[in-house]
Amino acid sequence: MLKPRALIANLKPYRSPILSRAGLSLDLNESMAGCSRRVLARLRSVTARDVSLYAEREVGERLVADFLGVAPEQVLLTNGMDEGLSLVFSAYLDQGDELLFADPTFVMYPVLGEALGARVVRVQAGEELALPVADLVARISPRTRVIAIANPNNPTGLAARREDLLKIVEAAPEAAVVIDEAYYEFCGETLIPKLARHPNLFVGRTFSKAYGLAGLRLGVLVGAAEQISFLRRFGLPFNVNSLVLACLEEALADQAFVVEHVAQVKRGRAQLEDLFRELGLRFWPSQTNFVLVRVGAELKAFVEAMQRRGVIVRDSSANPGCQGCARITVGTPAQMDGVLQAIRESIAETKR
Ligand code: PMP
Repeated sequence: MLKPRALIANLKPYRSPILSRAGLSLDLNESMAGCSRRVLARLRSVTARDVSLYAEREVGERLVADFLGVAPEQVLLTNGMDEGLSLVFSAYLDQGDELLFADPTFVMYPVLGEALGARVVRVQAGEELALPVADLVARISPRTRVIAIANPNNPTGLAARREDLLKIVEAAPEAAVVIDEAYYEFCGETLIPKLARHPNLFVGRTFSKAYGLAGLRLGVLVGAAEQISFLRRFGLPFNVNSLVLACLEEALADQAFVVEHVAQVKRGRAQLEDLFRELGLRFWPSQTNFVLVRVGAELKAFVEAMQRRGVIVRDSSANPGCQGCARITVGTPAQMDGVLQAIRESIAETKR
């Protein structure tokens, strides 16, 4: 009988996090504001040639490099940041090597590490859920080959201090340290200017969040040119589709869209936080487009009550340290009144 590698056969079945697309999906941290009209216009002008030919990723890499102020050799475009993470993990983790990260964090890190047969070393954050910097540094070993840190973090929305992140980068010169900046635009803190001094540092970005292009799939991996060249050797050559490459220039040029969207998200985020404060619910002050809130023992009933009101929120209780917590993506200004009302009613109903 045909059998996959034992590592693959032993993986738990992957469950798509998409529960339902009916109603308002505030469970996946997508942009509720859609994308730039200029990007849509470019997509509508796509030609048969754009579709029938393999796209030139390198042209896009030059655009992104210019935008980020780095050299094109330092940039790899990927099929969403998920693929970029997968490439870094595959390049540096041999079986038995250690993947190090702090819980709670992005759920793909352990999945990718386990698939490679890495030893997954998890450090638990304290009650505040802040990045446990000293504990992470203490767990660095000669076998640590990848350290993954989402900054700001998912699902907490918290950002760590730049000096603390650099402490970790400096403490592990033999490991690839990936700073996953998927939510950069909502926070404004980046380690990209530090790449020149740290050849083991990678920074990841995505067009899925603030640019509203999750469905088109485009991620960016930035690192030392030499390390990126290793990734190019085994990464698939046509991983990025022609449609997203066709509209990349417009997406980058329309910063007015991004700025306005980020401002709206910050206002909606403050509305959510004000409501949680009023309701006496513990929440973590967010630097992203979502907020983590502790509902408590009634979490399941709350998520269901929200769903009955047409709002899908994420049950984050399986993420270590997030027992009883829901993660809620910020909606558009037009959606927020309904979202706030649904939260009020659902809390009243479940906390009776
Ligand atoms: N990193 C983090 C922290 C994320 O939250 C996400 C999306 N949920 C990703 C990476 C992956 O994003 P994408 O593959 O859509 O670029």
